[in-house]
Amino acid sequence: MPEERQRDKDNKYNLTEEELEGYMKVVNEHNEKYMDLWKKTPFEERVLFLPHCMRHTAECEAEEYEFGRMCTHCMKCQMGRITTAAEENNIPYYIVPGGSMLLRILNAKDYNVSMGIACPFELAEAMERCTGKGCPMVGVPLVKDGCKETQTDMKKALDMLVVT
Ligand code: SF4
Repeated sequence: MPEERQRDKDNKYNLTEEELEGYMKVVNEHNEKYMDLWKKTPFEERVLFLPHCMRHTAECEAEEYEFGRMCTHCMKCQMGRITTAAEENNIPYYIVPGGSMLLRILNAKDYNVSMGIACPFELAEAMERCTGKGCPMVGVPLVKDGCKETQTDMKKALDMLVVT
């Protein structure tokens, strides 16, 4: 089956095993390399990037503005809890549609280190882009992708957000 993607039961992404392994290698390398920087950076100097595909598609109330969307914490998707935790800890966050918005934000603002949540492909790409812009990124991959109402590992995400 040359065109069919071969996936085993643990591979939840629309990626071949080889692709998934390659993207996760990039993610793991960035997490190892930049976690100390993330830990020692004061909360208000960190920045969190979230993917708009996590929103509840039909009922999300997050309003669009120049840098993505602002969550109203309706709690209909995981970002309600994550953005609440970010606000409680004075960590700026952005719900972005993709990598180009992320670069716009980094061009306009001055952040030292970032955390991303995205599918392995997008996360690996964002890590390389942000690190290249002088804002190294750590992150947590999505565990349910599909570009609609995606989900991440909440414990890992919330722990990483405020780790010191
Ligand atoms: S919690 Fe925030 S991002 Fe999620 S559906 Fe509600 S307003 Fe949208």
